[in-house]
Amino acid sequence: MSTPLCRLCGTELEVTFVDLGMSPPCESFLAADELDQGETFYPLHVRICSECLLVQLPAYIPAEEIFSDYAYFSSYSDSWVAHAGRFVEDAIARRGLDDSSFVVEVASNDGYLLQHTIAKGIRSLGIEPAANIAQVANDKGIPTVSRFLGEAVGKTVAQEHGPADLVVANNVFAHVPDIVDFAKGLRALVADDGVVSIEIPHLQRLIEGRLYDTIYHEHFSYLSLLTTQRVLAAAGLTVVDVQELTTHGGSLRTWSVPTERATAPSDDVARVLAAEERAGLHTVEGHQGFADVVAAVRDDLIEFLIDCRRKGAVVAGYGAPGKGNTLLNHCGIRSDLLSFTVDRNPHKHGHFLPGTHIPIRPPEALDEERPDYVLILPWNLREEIAAQLAPLKASGTQLVVPLPALEVLP
Ligand SMILES: [Zn+2]
Repeated sequence: MSTPLCRLCGTELEVTFVDLGMSPPCESFLAADELDQGETFYPLHVRICSECLLVQLPAYIPAEEIFSDYAYFSSYSDSWVAHAGRFVEDAIARRGLDDSSFVVEVASNDGYLLQHTIAKGIRSLGIEPAANIAQVANDKGIPTVSRFLGEAVGKTVAQEHGPADLVVANNVFAHVPDIVDFAKGLRALVADDGVVSIEIPHLQRLIEGRLYDTIYHEHFSYLSLLTTQRVLAAAGLTVVDVQELTTHGGSLRTWSVPTERATAPSDDVARVLAAEERAGLHTVEGHQGFADVVAAVRDDLIEFLIDCRRKGAVVAGYGAPGKGNTLLNHCGIRSDLLSFTVDRNPHKHGHFLPGTHIPIRPPEALDEERPDYVLILPWNLREEIAAQLAPLKASGTQLVVPLPALEVLP
């Protein structure tokens, strides 16, 4: 097999960041009648470019396959809608947007964010690749076109609707395989005096927080501010400001403008870049070591589960998040070590986790089975879930989180 090439600069990707082996797509939950069929596994081998330092997963699965009928509806999460509302308030204040302005959001989902701009009387347009979700947005009165953004689509949309004063791309930038063409699409959409706002999970937080279960096939690029600047620069955009957010374990929100109009970047840009440099993110060598951390986390979890099995202790899971599947597949954990998991989403009940074939049951199953341990897979929500499981814990079941380090909760 030939060495994959960097999606930013074209250099051969010869350095590994972390190799998690083979995994099926993390949202491909199985029905009972699919268990006896074959299942496609793809590599989860994340590499770093020795030239531009972009940490990336080659596009093993075509994006069209992942996103064309993507089932996630942002409005299902109250906290996410509220986050979008605060963003809109901030953007309106920063940019002085009013009823003469035009806002475009890329990957606008069901209009969870644009409902806030429309409520302010601002002309708004969504671009959403999944046709079924774009239809939901249009039905709600949020104008949305169903397209994959690239430079050509950006130019077409700008011709039809006019240049945008604000282009928003939240939590999509890291999820597009051709990130440079996507960035050129953003440049094509934005007015010469407009601004582009992008939210990305921050690589520095992924490393520091050991968020290795946020590595999955749909997550193509693992970005620092430095590499984000480099990608945007290739598209004629310059980062002039940055904010650090707590979402997704730690994210960056960058504000960029067309390079020919760029002013000096804010002090926050210099501050975040300096912190990244201290964390080793400005050299290839500084990225080494993450693979060892991941291996240690895996060893601890498997050791714990095997020990439980030898003692005859039953371990069940809590939650069936996509990210749990990266962890379970990487660790090779199947139903012999984790009997079943539970989830509050009724659509998942009676289904099985991809790859590991662990059954998903309703939360009441924990009360029926009374396992000795419950492994909390969405471990970032440990406080909230521990509170929900307090009665179970009071009756003797112990709660365990796998990350950032294996811990039986006190
Ligand atoms: Zn590169």
